[in-house]
Amino acid sequence: MSKNLLQQKPLSLEAFKMRLYNTLTRKIEDFIPQDPKNVKIYTCGPTVYSFAHIGNYAAYIYWDLLIRVIKLHHWIPNRVMNLTDVGHLTSDGDDGDDKLEKGAKKENKTVWEIADFYSAAFLKDYSELNLLQPTKIARATDYIKQDIKFVEELSKKGFTYETTDGIYFDTSKFKNYADFARLDLENLKVGARVEYNPEKRHASDFAVWKFIQDGEDHAMRWDFLGRPGYPGWHLECSVISHTELGEPLDIHTGGIDHIPVHHTNEIAQTEAALNTTMSRFWLHCNFITSEGQKFSKSLGNAYTLSELKSKDFSPLDYKLWVLQGHYQSERNFTLADLKSAQIRRLKWKNQIAELLQSNHNELIACQGSSKLTDFLHSLLQKNDTPKTNLSRQILEYASDNLNSAEAFSYIDQHPLSLDDWALVEQLFGLGLFEQTLPSQEVINQIEARDQARQQKDFQTADRLRAQIEQAGFVVKDNPNQSIWQYYK
Ligand SMILES: [Zn+2]
Repeated sequence: MSKNLLQQKPLSLEAFKMRLYNTLTRKIEDFIPQDPKNVKIYTCGPTVYSFAHIGNYAAYIYWDLLIRVIKLHHWIPNRVMNLTDVGHLTSDGDDGDDKLEKGAKKENKTVWEIADFYSAAFLKDYSELNLLQPTKIARATDYIKQDIKFVEELSKKGFTYETTDGIYFDTSKFKNYADFARLDLENLKVGARVEYNPEKRHASDFAVWKFIQDGEDHAMRWDFLGRPGYPGWHLECSVISHTELGEPLDIHTGGIDHIPVHHTNEIAQTEAALNTTMSRFWLHCNFITSEGQKFSKSLGNAYTLSELKSKDFSPLDYKLWVLQGHYQSERNFTLADLKSAQIRRLKWKNQIAELLQSNHNELIACQGSSKLTDFLHSLLQKNDTPKTNLSRQILEYASDNLNSAEAFSYIDQHPLSLDDWALVEQLFGLGLFEQTLPSQEVINQIEARDQARQQKDFQTADRLRAQIEQAGFVVKDNPNQSIWQYYK
């Protein structure tokens, strides 16, 4: 890092905008938050009934980039994500078993134990992927009182009707129901599911509350209208986002599979009950397959993060693989491609290692600290504004509908400074600065090896090289002085 760079004025962020593809309008639009100090974002979270495979995490990796871009524009995200621990049926609709109840029976545990166990597993993976924590993680079962109030409000306004098995939202009463997903309701009627519920007035109607029938084995239950029951799956997102953030949200995120049913239903409930716009922007990420097929336990391609780790990959190699593509594109994951992502990440870490070594003394002089780790920390903290044209270009790519792939090619093609790398780390969270630095002992071994080589004592040099490698570093011989690199 030269003195020139330090003295250079921070570049203005105003000159370039953040642009996002909005499913609501099917267009890329400029994104400007309603309140820069409170950018309201809601993310549909997981249903916590089994271990998530890596494909499940892609969405959260894309939305992590969204949050990081927002922060680098100096806006303050206020983000809520739900954990579904009740009411998500195996059909994603109103039929089938509750996923949590089914999981509990399979493992011979209570539904509450299942929810706790898999919530913890999800959050552990979440932090290993270095994903920024939402402002709040909300569990569906903590909002039952609000759910009931919401259903009462919908009923009062005439949007619901009761059947033997629940309270349903009458989609014909909400005139914009088909708009969001561009649904063809006539065809939907003809092609309705085999187990079409004859008490439903329209194929698209959905349960906002389900009654538990006599003899039905459903452990999670709450009293409403004098009978035991539980909320419909779609309801929780309307209720949690309303309770925690309020409408309109700035951005609502999810997968494209959410568009025709889950998000369509969220919009119908919220806008019917509250007579307001639910969200200004809707972002949806595309599907990921694994080794050319749908992720599936029986095919052996539904890798978990732990499996990748046992194959000697870091969760952050996977994060980099995800960010090599675009959230709107269909992706296919392969272990071979993950290997390339791992090599790319190692290359980047070693470019940083090389810069640290060539600038070491100057850096210490700048910082007045002898600890390199302190320096790295301060470098990350102060790099929340692009200071160079390279940094600016990288942030500009990421701000253009989250085009991390373009940003990555740009990074590969240009010589970045430490300040640029610090911005890259702020933007993508790839753990590029989290590596252990060589201990003083390893530094001494590297110097001793250089001396041994100069004296043509190759036996000692080889012995030292082996010791250095055992500590996790490789030595690259440069003409003047050798440098260390990471080999992993
Ligand atoms: Zn949702």
